[in-house]
Amino acid sequence: METDRSGHRLKKIGLFGGTLDPIHIGHLRAAEEVYERLGLHQVWFLPAPMPPHKLSAGCTSFEKRLKMVELATEGLSHLKASNLEQFRKGISYSVDLLRFIRENQKLKHIVPFFIVGADAFLEIDTWKEFREIPRLSNLVVITRPPFKRSDIIEKASTVFPEYQITSLENEKVNGDFNKRLLIVPVTPLGISSTKIRDLVKKNKSIRFLVTKKVQEYIMANGLYVLDKRRNVTGNSPKDSDNPAASSIEMAREIYNAILDNKGEEIVVLDMRGTSPLADFFIIAQGRSTRHVQGMANRMRRDLSKKKIKCKSVEGEEEGKWILMDFDDVVVHLFYEPVRSFYDLEGLWIEAPRMIMMGGALVREEDHEKQD
Ligand code: ATP
Repeated sequence: METDRSGHRLKKIGLFGGTLDPIHIGHLRAAEEVYERLGLHQVWFLPAPMPPHKLSAGCTSFEKRLKMVELATEGLSHLKASNLEQFRKGISYSVDLLRFIRENQKLKHIVPFFIVGADAFLEIDTWKEFREIPRLSNLVVITRPPFKRSDIIEKASTVFPEYQITSLENEKVNGDFNKRLLIVPVTPLGISSTKIRDLVKKNKSIRFLVTKKVQEYIMANGLYVLDKRRNVTGNSPKDSDNPAASSIEMAREIYNAILDNKGEEIVVLDMRGTSPLADFFIIAQGRSTRHVQGMANRMRRDLSKKKIKCKSVEGEEEGKWILMDFDDVVVHLFYEPVRSFYDLEGLWIEAPRMIMMGGALVREEDHEKQD
């Protein structure tokens, strides 16, 4: 066991930073392998609030990227979502993160292993104060296609000539903190967040590229969908297959169908102008997974008689979270404990709520004004 001068146990922590928009299997598998090869205590994923290389392109909010990391690492004690970066101001430069860790008393037991992919490492000399990085932390470069290990070695010897480069083959590094610059080959996985965002845009499957929960979260939040944003007052562009008079009329019919099937705690959110996915999100719950399954099944049948067609249904087999896409209205039917875990209402807290008044759906705030 390694200890510091005062006898405190030191913990080797892998720091896996990046935009993580979204976190994918390439990140997770690489972290797993580095954890194992270097005998780390944990690997922390640190989504950058303001990634310097992605500033102009724009990215998903920090909170959502962090949530996806939490979902991807849920139940794992060695891979962790870290919100450390949240407490630092301004652009998320790696050197500042490493200094922050060094200077923070609560983190003084940490022996950091800063992990970067080959693509990022090959540009390291464009980073702020890059020479400081191996002084502040062990630097672990992981392989990533299409780059070769020789590209990494060449770059490392040019940029950091003063450090010995250790390229791991089969040996384990145990307690050797002097190896400042390590190259760790990981299983080559040609996966990138860009690819995932593109697939979502093209309405193609991302299954097995991200974890199931991350996939569900992306879907539920309409992340990476082509921006067919609607205006605030009007209904969606009429590319809908549903001939119902308007999306609000459709939402009303769906609301009633949920009630007819004894759905509980129905919440209708007005997403016009904020979500590219739909005009209204309806969230409701059932008492058991069977209740939720039965509700979805009967709703589809009864609504189709009223010419309101469900375009797709997901999650029917399990009945924990069934997502029904009616084009302009998206319905989330939950088994109660699952609903509180995902807390979609909390995520869309800004969205105005609709309530049923005299058989019509009206904005709750408009109704309050009249009172
Ligand atoms: P984007 O496509 O948006 O640029 P990305 O997939 O490269 O995203 P980032 O969040 O930018 O992901 O990467 C964070 C870190 O993970 C970087 O150091 C990157 O090199 C590394 N990384 C990403 N994907 C892989 C992969 N498939 N294999 C190994 N390393 C990876």
